[in-house]
Amino acid sequence: MSYVVDLLVKHGAAMYGHEPVTQLDHGLQTAHLAEQAGASEALIAAALLHDIGHLIGGFEHARMPDVDFAHEESGADFLRTFLGPVVSEPVRLHVAAKRWLCACDPTYVDSLSPASVHSLALQGGAFTPQAAAAFLAHPFARDAIRLRRWDDAAKVAHAPTPPLAHYARIVARIEAALA
Ligand code: FE
Repeated sequence: MSYVVDLLVKHGAAMYGHEPVTQLDHGLQTAHLAEQAGASEALIAAALLHDIGHLIGGFEHARMPDVDFAHEESGADFLRTFLGPVVSEPVRLHVAAKRWLCACDPTYVDSLSPASVHSLALQGGAFTPQAAAAFLAHPFARDAIRLRRWDDAAKVAHAPTPPLAHYARIVARIEAALA
């Protein structure tokens, strides 16, 4: 099994902050929503692995909810090595996508969970109009916005998904293509 996916197996039982799902469930639900939406394999892998920065950062993240560890940056730097920019860059931008959605979709903030509203403040809040425009100019911005919406919806206790092995095969194909 891929080293990257193995991290999810090893540490995925940790709870996803204050949400009613584990890290592994959250990744699987996000990937499942991406797959159902017809996303590319790269974006499905990004969905599965978008919070890996929380896992490689150890459990300080869960113990210190008032610190922003910039898990999107550490996770993306890690994923870029193994899976390339088509996977890593939507992950890097998934927090910025939340700030963009808060600025540009008036219904979005109301849809966020309390934990996500809390982290939004630590992450800098809604973008200004200038920052929102600059964000959209990024080549991976649209992928990141799609990923963000699946991320926000992937917090349902006991929601059924395909098994991790299904997504591990997708990750393995991307790794093989890069090798
Ligand atoms: Fe997430």
